[in-house]
Amino acid sequence: MHHIEQVYINGEFVTPHGTERFDLYNPATARVIGQVRLADAVDGERAIAAARAAFPAWSKTTKQVRIAALQRMHAAVAARHDDLLAAVVEEYGAPASRSAWMASYPAEVIAQAIEALEAFEFTTVAGAATVEMTPLGVAGLITPWNSDAGFICGKLAAALAAGCTAVIKPSEMSALQTQIVTEALHAADLPPGVFNIVTGRGDTVGETISRHPHVAKISFTGSTRTGKAILRNAAENFTRVTLELGGKSPTLILDDADIKQAIPLAIQAGLMNSGQACVAGTRILVPQSRKAEFEQALAQAQAIEAVVSGDPRDAKTVVGPMVSERQWQRVQGYIQKGLAEGARLLAGGVGRPEGTRDGWFVRPTLFTDVHNQMAIARDEIFGPVLCVIAYRDEAEAIAIANDTDYGLSALVLGGDSGRARRVAQQIHAGRVLVNTLTHEPKAPFGGFKHSGVGREMGAWGISAFMEPKTILG
Ligand code: NAD
Repeated sequence: MHHIEQVYINGEFVTPHGTERFDLYNPATARVIGQVRLADAVDGERAIAAARAAFPAWSKTTKQVRIAALQRMHAAVAARHDDLLAAVVEEYGAPASRSAWMASYPAEVIAQAIEALEAFEFTTVAGAATVEMTPLGVAGLITPWNSDAGFICGKLAAALAAGCTAVIKPSEMSALQTQIVTEALHAADLPPGVFNIVTGRGDTVGETISRHPHVAKISFTGSTRTGKAILRNAAENFTRVTLELGGKSPTLILDDADIKQAIPLAIQAGLMNSGQACVAGTRILVPQSRKAEFEQALAQAQAIEAVVSGDPRDAKTVVGPMVSERQWQRVQGYIQKGLAEGARLLAGGVGRPEGTRDGWFVRPTLFTDVHNQMAIARDEIFGPVLCVIAYRDEAEAIAIANDTDYGLSALVLGGDSGRARRVAQQIHAGRVLVNTLTHEPKAPFGGFKHSGVGREMGAWGISAFMEPKTILG
């Protein structure tokens, strides 16, 4: 059993004022594996005060001092790779394909921030003016459970690179990852108060941070619903926000696509991270003229039916358990809703996959005869439930792809890459992939519409923690 009893404020592990114990589960067994003592609003206030006190000195540090600090953070987090790997499998059920990435990404994203900081111009000239990029102040960093360690490290590295200090409110469901990252960051020996980590509930610690007049910036990754609440709170003090929110991403298969290449990419895009990914390609748009062919190829033995859903420690597993019982129920509810709406099941369905018992396992599910107004095509389900939607021509395909509240990511698959790129340019999303699933961490990442506000990564990510100041004369 894990017992996490302390939070991290002003360079020290301290017992929080909050006394609530929150159960931690292994989603593959549905059993309690430990408890975390949660911070409360008083701890949130203390963490903000510590970050505020540390800001004047940190904001005046040179680029070299910040790079050296980030390098120590990188080394310390990289050294905990194996512990992170064990934690993401245990507290989160990440299958091998995902857990390897999740264990290495926290260090990688710090390395990306170092590279961006090395090239970052803090002072530029605009006509007769000098423009100085100045750090905003205390940054509140709020993370979701689906990549907690990665988001803590990415947001913190960008904030510190900009000269901000930080209060981090990690997901209460990721306490094992948070503990490992906190120990690593402590070992990196940064000045006290420069970063503080207070695991607590969103409606206590999260609200304290997003309403606080001494917090100048919120960088949040999580659901669109919570993002809206944060935006409303932030309005009171004109707190700057970066919001990385949900998605309902289209995978647009053009009529000249090679079926052998398109199908594995479409399935991988839809089922990444067991379907619990903001960028998951959950709407698969296929040409009406080739609908039957694509349906068969998507559903058959090499595709959805072959996807192993089960024990995340088994190397063959592609889809691990849902993170919580609530999430399991949500996925079941949407599968039932899809059936009630008249969609036709090609694979999967309600219930647990064969051979699994207690854990929160679900059957990778593929619906067809879906139209874009159905709830399963509009709502972010956050599980392995995919929809096949037929379109008549390219114009209708683009219209369906864009007919969503979201705009985080999209995938276009086609035989003629020039044509596929032209289609990509017409899709309203922060990132459009063409015939690839490769991610480029040097490029800005973020969403259009209800998928968010602002961008992370690279110079965009650092600028998000700064305000330009124009000096003339
Ligand atoms: P969530 O919104 O429930 O919680 C995210 C964080 O916000 C948690 O730390 C939570 O405690 C906190 N929170 C909750 N209520 C709050 C409030 N009122 N004020 C301040 N903080 C509050 O999201 P989740 O279920 O943890 O994560 C899944 C969601 O995250 C999905 O919608 C997914 O698409 C999204 N996500 C987006 C990206 C992206 O980069 N766009 C990446 C990963 C996940």
